[in-house]
Amino acid sequence: MSFLCDFHIHSCLSPCADITMTPHEIASVCVSKGIDWISITDHNSAGNVRVFSKVLSRAGVSFIPGIEIHTVEDVHVLAYFPEVSLAEAYSDWIRKERLPDISIDPEISGYQLFVDDDDSFTGMEEIWLGQPTTLGISETLETVRDNGGVSVMAHIDRKMGLITQLGVIPEEYREVPMEISFRRTLFEGIESRNILHSSDAHSLNVIAPTLSLSANTRSFEEFRSAIFSFGRTLKIIWD
Ligand SMILES: [Zn+2]
Ligand SMILES: [Zn+2]
Repeated sequence: MSFLCDFHIHSCLSPCADITMTPHEIASVCVSKGIDWISITDHNSAGNVRVFSKVLSRAGVSFIPGIEIHTVEDVHVLAYFPEVSLAEAYSDWIRKERLPDISIDPEISGYQLFVDDDDSFTGMEEIWLGQPTTLGISETLETVRDNGGVSVMAHIDRKMGLITQLGVIPEEYREVPMEISFRRTLFEGIESRNILHSSDAHSLNVIAPTLSLSANTRSFEEFRSAIFSFGRTLKIIWD
C-alpha cells in the first residue's frame, strides 16, 4: 500500500506558526487533502504531540511525534520518535538542560500555545522556542538515537539547513536522511539517497501530501526503514 504523508508540520506551539495550527484544524485539512500520515515537529519542543496523537487518531490520520531541534550551529534537525512518551521525555530534557532560559514578548515574537483536544488554548510556553539549543549537530544525532528516535536533517537547501549553514554536507552526516525543499536540489549533486520532502507548514494552507510512502502498515518501524531506502519506498510529490 502507499500512504500520502507530510512529516514536517508546526503547531500553534511554534512561535512562528499561526495560532490556527490546532489539532482539529490540522486533522480536518489532512482528511480533506487525503493525507494519511503526518508528524508535528515544533521548534525545540514536543509539548503538543500528545494531544495531536489523540485527535489525529480519532480522525484516522496516523501520527509520528516529532521535534525540530535548533542546534548551536544554527542548523535544524528533525527528530522522530516511536512513542509520544519518548518524544516528551527528550523534549523535557532539552527544556531543562539545553534550552537557555530566555523568555520572549509573544506580541513581538509570536505566541507559543499549548492546546487541548477541543482546540482550546491551555497555556503558553514561557521559554523562547525559536532560539538555538546548546546541542551540536553530532550530539543531537546521538542523543535522539539514544532516546529511541531517528533524525533527519531539515530543509538542507534552505535557511537553517545543513548546506546553507555549513556550505557542504560533512562526510560524517552523509548517511543521515535529509529533507530537501526544492526540486532543483535533487539535480545539484546531492549524493545521499535518503531524501524526504515535506511542507514545513506554519499555516494550514501549506500542509500538503509531499511524500508517498509504500508500506504494509503505518508503523514507526515502517517509517524508519522507508527513510533509509529512498527510491524503493519513498516517492517525492512535488507541488
Ligand atoms: Zn526549520
Ligand atoms: Zn520547521
